[in-house]
Amino acid sequence: MSDPSPQKLACDADFRCGWRGDSVSVLRAADPFNEGCELLACPKCREQSIRGCCDEPGCWALDTCGTATEAGYRRTCHKHQPVSVKAR
Ligand SMILES: [Zn+2]
Ligand SMILES: [Zn+2]
Repeated sequence: MSDPSPQKLACDADFRCGWRGDSVSVLRAADPFNEGCELLACPKCREQSIRGCCDEPGCWALDTCGTATEAGYRRTCHKHQPVSVKAR
């Protein structure tokens, strides 16, 4: 269940803030409205504007694709979407 590699995250207030980090350095708090869920907030501007990023090294595009591969679950942008296990 544990994720060995921290997910890349960025502050969506990009032009104002520009924070980039991962799921280790982001601010987390239990969501009082959704049990078991977490609220994520930017450690720099403290806005709850955190979005996931493509897990391809050096790519900070929005992780619009989630794909199950032989190497595990990948979150990538559409450009770096790996070949799905099921698609073959
Ligand atoms: Zn921010
Ligand atoms: Zn990408």
